[in-house]
Amino acid sequence: MTRLAPGSTLGILGGGQLGRMLSQAANRLGFDVVILDPEENSPAGRVSRGQIVAPYDDPNALDVMGKVCDAVTFEFENVPAASVDRIRAGGARVAPGPMALAVAQDRLEEKTFLNGVGATTVAFHAVATLEDLHRGLEKLGTPSLLKTRREGYDGKGQVWIKAAKGATAAWDALGGRPCILEARAPFLRELSIIAARGRDGAVAVYPLGENRHAGGVLRTTLAPAVVDARIDKAARRIAKAVLNGLEYVGVVGIELFDLGEGRLLVNEIAPRVHNTGHWTQDGCACDQFEQHVRAVMGWPLGPTAAHASVEMTNLLGDEVDRWAALSGKSDVRIHLYGKAPARPGRKMGHVNRVRPLQH
Ligand code: AMP
Repeated sequence: MTRLAPGSTLGILGGGQLGRMLSQAANRLGFDVVILDPEENSPAGRVSRGQIVAPYDDPNALDVMGKVCDAVTFEFENVPAASVDRIRAGGARVAPGPMALAVAQDRLEEKTFLNGVGATTVAFHAVATLEDLHRGLEKLGTPSLLKTRREGYDGKGQVWIKAAKGATAAWDALGGRPCILEARAPFLRELSIIAARGRDGAVAVYPLGENRHAGGVLRTTLAPAVVDARIDKAARRIAKAVLNGLEYVGVVGIELFDLGEGRLLVNEIAPRVHNTGHWTQDGCACDQFEQHVRAVMGWPLGPTAAHASVEMTNLLGDEVDRWAALSGKSDVRIHLYGKAPARPGRKMGHVNRVRPLQH
């Protein structure tokens, strides 16, 4: 378990805003960063030592990443397993590991894993055929939610089924791909927990965030969320079980449904830094980005206590044009991703409104 020294090189697969903020945190600790992203001039590439412009399965690019980098991580979960193997063969350590990727890439594997480590989820049914879907609807009732097993994000790849007669339309809408049918979670609110595990197995957990979405996309996170001790304890227990169960190294984001009366369900796991953890940049001494870099590079984990109360708001599309007005507010910190153009709904930046912590 070597601790990589400043001057070592961190590779990141993915050059978006998460890669950019990881790169900035890594630079602060004295590391060089190389980005792999098929798009030239990526947000992360522009703040890093270099970018390799190639697809994520390009053998030559992966060989170079494996040789040039001491450690490699990723900013998105749909990294091909073969790419990770190829990078590793070049000599770099890759974190999080293959188990985390396999579980997070497939909603059925994910729910099966979660239940296996004692983290409760909604009831679900595996759907490989239209007949399976009918059986699932009989078992779970309606409304229920049909999701593709792979490659869904921000509410994409999922359709609500309000009555059994809507089964065929839903199945067709998702292209007849392998799916999972989920019972509806009767949640009061959505929470998330950001946590990390180091190479030495140490676990560090941030306070919970409360999240509001619109159109499947995160709008705001309020953190630390106001929760009773039961919820806090349950969320911490879930985070530990997930991290240890996956022999995880790095930061994970875990989305939760709060059902009230101390009951939580896990919605999904993101094996990476997470949009609902952006509040830590201005609410904690060691934010999720530095924490992830620390874990991957074999450093001890940093502190996770909140020193401020933060309301994080995403700037989507042309909302980023508010930067001038926002820059005049003394309680607001602005984080812009250097992206253009500001297409509707595109994540262009976020703001953290910081207030004294309420005890
Ligand atoms: P996901 O892509 O799984 O994160 O789902 C996107 C959003 O859909 C979540 O943030 C919830 O608001 C909602 N959602 C997902 N699964 C369920 C469920 N089983 N019951 C109720 N709402 C859900």
